[in-house]
Amino acid sequence: MSKKWVYLFKEGNATMKELLGGKGAGLAEMTNIGLPVPGGFTVTTEACTEYYNQDRKLSNEIIDQINKNLAILEKECEKTFGDVNNPLLVSVRSGAKFSMPGMMDTILNLGLNDETVAGIAKSTNNERFAFDSYRRFIQMFGDVVQEISKDKFDYVLESAKEKNGYRDDTELTADDLKEIVVAYKKIVKDETGKDFPLDPKEQLLMAIEAVFRSWNNNRAISYRNMNDIPHDIGTAVNVQSMVYGNMGDDCGTGVAFTRNPATGQKKLFGEFLINAQGEDVVAGIRTPRDIEDLKELMPEVYKQFQETAERLENHYRDMQDIEFTIEKSKLFMLQTRTGKRTAAAALCAAVEMVEEGLITKEEAVLRLDPISLDQLLHPTFEEAALKAAELLATGLPASPGAATGKVYFTAEAVCAAVANGEETLLVRKETSPEDIEGMYAANGILTARGGMTSHAAVVARGMGKCCVAGCEAIKVDEAAKQFTVGNQVFTEGDFISLNGSTGSVYKGSIKTVTPELSGHFAEIMAWADEYRTLKVRTNADTPNDAAVAVRFGAEGIGLCRTEHMFFDEQRLPSVRRMILSESKQQREKALAEILPMQKEDFIGLYKTMEERPVTVRLLDPPLHEFLPKESKDIEALAADMGFALEDMVTIIQGLEEFNPMLGHRGCRLAITYPEIAQMQTRAIMEAAIEVKQECGFNVIPEIMIPLIGINEELTYLDKVVRKTAELVKSERKSDIKYLVGTMMEIPRATLIADQIAKTAEFFSFGTNDLTQMTYGFSRDDAGKFITDYKEKGILPNDPFQSIDVEGVGKLVEMGVVLGRKTKPDLKIGVCGEHGGDPKSIFFFHSVGLSYVSCSPFRVPIARLAAAQAALSNNKTTFTDK
Ligand code: PEP
Ligand code: MG
Repeated sequence: MSKKWVYLFKEGNATMKELLGGKGAGLAEMTNIGLPVPGGFTVTTEACTEYYNQDRKLSNEIIDQINKNLAILEKECEKTFGDVNNPLLVSVRSGAKFSMPGMMDTILNLGLNDETVAGIAKSTNNERFAFDSYRRFIQMFGDVVQEISKDKFDYVLESAKEKNGYRDDTELTADDLKEIVVAYKKIVKDETGKDFPLDPKEQLLMAIEAVFRSWNNNRAISYRNMNDIPHDIGTAVNVQSMVYGNMGDDCGTGVAFTRNPATGQKKLFGEFLINAQGEDVVAGIRTPRDIEDLKELMPEVYKQFQETAERLENHYRDMQDIEFTIEKSKLFMLQTRTGKRTAAAALCAAVEMVEEGLITKEEAVLRLDPISLDQLLHPTFEEAALKAAELLATGLPASPGAATGKVYFTAEAVCAAVANGEETLLVRKETSPEDIEGMYAANGILTARGGMTSHAAVVARGMGKCCVAGCEAIKVDEAAKQFTVGNQVFTEGDFISLNGSTGSVYKGSIKTVTPELSGHFAEIMAWADEYRTLKVRTNADTPNDAAVAVRFGAEGIGLCRTEHMFFDEQRLPSVRRMILSESKQQREKALAEILPMQKEDFIGLYKTMEERPVTVRLLDPPLHEFLPKESKDIEALAADMGFALEDMVTIIQGLEEFNPMLGHRGCRLAITYPEIAQMQTRAIMEAAIEVKQECGFNVIPEIMIPLIGINEELTYLDKVVRKTAELVKSERKSDIKYLVGTMMEIPRATLIADQIAKTAEFFSFGTNDLTQMTYGFSRDDAGKFITDYKEKGILPNDPFQSIDVEGVGKLVEMGVVLGRKTKPDLKIGVCGEHGGDPKSIFFFHSVGLSYVSCSPFRVPIARLAAAQAALSNNKTTFTDK
């Protein structure tokens, strides 16, 4: 039997997203649960892949199946393609597995030609409507299928209006539209050298091919790159019989969410337009009305819609984003999909759905995308600064958050300014898919037109980016690179600020602050904590960072990098004296100056962390990093230390290395200069003893030795550290406990982890260095070529961001297995960047690590990802893009 390339809506269901795309699967499911869906069929994503495999050609088998399904559709609708009296007209829309709003193309009213247009005029008793549909079809077909510039068609339309002295399109008469149709067909002939195709079947095949082609248009490709959507999954095409929202005042079209996508509040949220066609709402051309108004205008339709929306939400057990059309007071459902929402709305809806009994706590935890929590950690305006700010105008609160920056009027200008390190805002009349990269790069977006479901609003919410839309008080002149509000003029580079939660636009820049985390956030986090088995620690070097991390739920410090403490202005002179010392005595003297300061650092950390574990790593970077690089600074240091300039230069040159990352750093420093490790150990121990005495906290310091690759490196330094620690204990008459462990960040260490575990009391995987040394990629230089690697399909993603499971991951797994062979209860964590990456966290959970450690702002993300990993038994769940 031949392969099935085409499915009638009634043959599919919600689980078939991969094959039918999100839209196709939704239409199939709605059809099957008996909702009013205009008939149609879906050409599969596999047909798209086949189209590309066949050198961008539809195979005869696919064409055959399209025709067969078309015949069935004709029978169902009791209309025929190309019939002069009762013609079938269809829409042709793309729909991939992951929704890509506005990225690919749509064609409406397909099936119209010089004859069927008369049939439509007759059956609707509305000649104007028939010809308006026809001219729209030629324009859309010309643009999408034949790639003729839209401007050419717009010019004809505008000239006709001007000639007749009309302001609005609606003033054009049937006769005007007939003339426009003739002019449009001439454009097609002039541009393509061929007549506009009048055979509906030919139109249909051309349109399907065009949708397949649009999968690879530039904006779709960049959207997929930005959202990590694979390029090889293709799009499906939905062919559906047309219903009309633009046949009069008893018609309309709209978009609604079952809950508020910005806040999560349980209340229908949406907009509609009377007497309009589907695209008009999202395009932001006319400002739509609130869905509430439909209650008064068409009470019966509203009631039916409300019931249908509720049914769909209960059916899918999730917030839905629904498109509908009303044709002559009859409701039709055109799409349902999981509603894109802000992180705040996702949290609110998830918690409330649990309270309503719609979903379980586990489902609520599994449903949230950990990365999106980042949006909640975004800044808001500082209250005092806000009070002083001048309100310029108010638009719609399209996507929450606060943003401040210089205004730019094109996506390109934003991207260029961001590349120069500027903070920017994109200001436009309205946005379109071409603006996507600028929207991504800007801090926030401001548009003069469009509603809450306009392109700007939907895309910004998806990105978690602050957006104020439909701010009609501002007059944007993109060509002149300026906007005006009343008599104030703002030009490119002027600062303004946006509050996407209220819709306010302010003059100048306003200071921002980090938000409070309570309510729904705290609830979800508490649930996540019930399920996860991985502990979550933070990488923090200062009491301040540690305090932020504790507020976010950190259970300890997994990595305190002590080198940052050495860069302190007060200590740098002593640090430099230590480095430049010519004898052990001189070095010890300089270190003795650093000791009290270093001890204060640890006291601050221990007090903040109370009894939570704190892992302190001994000094790691090469010593020359602490010496000046600029000649004036070298001169000043030489003068300060009483060195001749040439001697100073010689010493500095002597410390320079060809490959510092593989040079004299990590444990190698402490092997050459054990005094450094001794001083640090003393500071760590004395601080713990003093905090215990002062505050009663039972601190158990964890002393971590970096960059071990040879077992003897560890056994040597373990002795140095323990000897000092025991000395401090006996001096202070303390029985304080402490641990000595090591980082696993050199591939060789993972291979001999069983030997290392004989000495080490804990391991912490330094996956930054482990990735660097496993790939042989310099972590400081790889940025230059990783993008090429990704674009050319050599690497699926940046291995410094998300763990390379099959390579670096294998070393991690081996290290865990070998380490625990020696010590079954060995505590093992990870403190590289990967500790805050959800995908990597799934892996770390699967190999049985004890904890992950990440930057403070990643702590909530890690808590949620760890819970998901535990709940889903290592299956990735948050795949809904
Ligand atoms: C690592 O290498 O993963 C690590 C945490 O250490 P650093 O980044 O300081 O080298
Ligand atoms: Mg490292």
